[in-house]
Amino acid sequence: MTKPELLAPAGDIDKLKTALHFGADAVYIGMKDFSLRANTKNFDDAQLCEAIAYTHSLGKKIYIAFNIYFTPEQTDDIVAALHHLAQLCPDGMIISDPGIILLARQHAPNVPIHISTQANTTNQYAADFYKAQGADRIVLARELSLEQIRQIHLHTDIELEAFVHGAMCISYSGRCLLSTYMTTAGLGRRTDDTKTEPRSANKGDCVQPCRWEYILKEKSRPDQNYEVSEDEHGTYFMSSRDICMIDHIADLIDAGVCSFKVEGRMKSLLYISAIIASYRSMIDHICDGTPIDRRIIERELNVVSHRDFSTGFFYQSPMTDANITSTMQYKREMRLSGKVLGSSGDKMTVKVYNTISTDSDLEYVAPGLNIVKVGRIELFDRNGTPTDKIHHCDEATVRLYDTDGNVIIGQSMDILRMEADF
Ligand code: SF4
Repeated sequence: MTKPELLAPAGDIDKLKTALHFGADAVYIGMKDFSLRANTKNFDDAQLCEAIAYTHSLGKKIYIAFNIYFTPEQTDDIVAALHHLAQLCPDGMIISDPGIILLARQHAPNVPIHISTQANTTNQYAADFYKAQGADRIVLARELSLEQIRQIHLHTDIELEAFVHGAMCISYSGRCLLSTYMTTAGLGRRTDDTKTEPRSANKGDCVQPCRWEYILKEKSRPDQNYEVSEDEHGTYFMSSRDICMIDHIADLIDAGVCSFKVEGRMKSLLYISAIIASYRSMIDHICDGTPIDRRIIERELNVVSHRDFSTGFFYQSPMTDANITSTMQYKREMRLSGKVLGSSGDKMTVKVYNTISTDSDLEYVAPGLNIVKVGRIELFDRNGTPTDKIHHCDEATVRLYDTDGNVIIGQSMDILRMEADF
């Protein structure tokens, strides 16, 4: 069985390092200005160089999202960015606009081209078309079934990548005008939103109106809201479930998928650590026979923010099953407490994300689903003085013990987390 690549999202350099630490084979990131995800921090020039050098130093791969649809006045900037990428040599550029494919072949011919899911490739002829244009890989449309992917794989030899975990759209992979329409009408903007242009899903800036809860009003009774409720949680007829294909890895490999992509460049460090470690373990189990404990994986999938899970359209048709969630509520059980910056002897330096005190109920998480319940915490401030609490955003030195009293010896990029009161 050919072992697939596990491809992780990375919204910033911390998430990139975390994803690689917890077992990703490759990461995908956005460049400032040229990525679809407008709300991620994205990487400026210096960070881009650091990200590529760091990833390559680990012998892993990095792909750059370049999946906007551009307009004529952006041409010079696009060409300049392509020249820059040609020098930096990432392992691929994720492109949807045919114009950028053309320019990429001229100005960055040494960088492989991956066709974005935004291009909605749904058949072998489209795959062959893109191959003839110089593409090396297709990120398949999320609406395809496993059988359709198998047919594409049988009739073309281009690499196929598929989203296996994360959020779905009710529209065709982000090709949706709902957010643009709503925000143009003045709806859905946060109070701190200073932008004036429409919030377009096609520019990665969706306000997600499909997840909102809707009510009915009668025109002459503006103060009266008529609830249209599916159940006690409200109405959510457009809100898709998340995909989770962790129990179907062999099916995906058999259908010809060579790269398993996790959605979510806006997701947290906690999310990335738990989901990537879970898929790493399951892929190694399926391909190499390494043992797993399915109960640990089940818990990991559920300690981070997500909607109801489904298998997307891999086994069902979008024509008959829209995979709508049965609740609007996000489910999550844990929050990130800290990230290890380094260790010395039996102590670790930790960046604190949520206040840690000596009586916090912590779990220590290292790669390989190595999760240890912390039994005792010794905390020291930046001056090395013992303390009973270190606040959010500060740094702490910690000595941690497991419940048997053994010191926990960790390494940089491991994380600490705690039960959350949501
Ligand atoms: S409104 Fe919903 S379906 Fe449309 S692009 Fe945004 S998340 Fe996707």
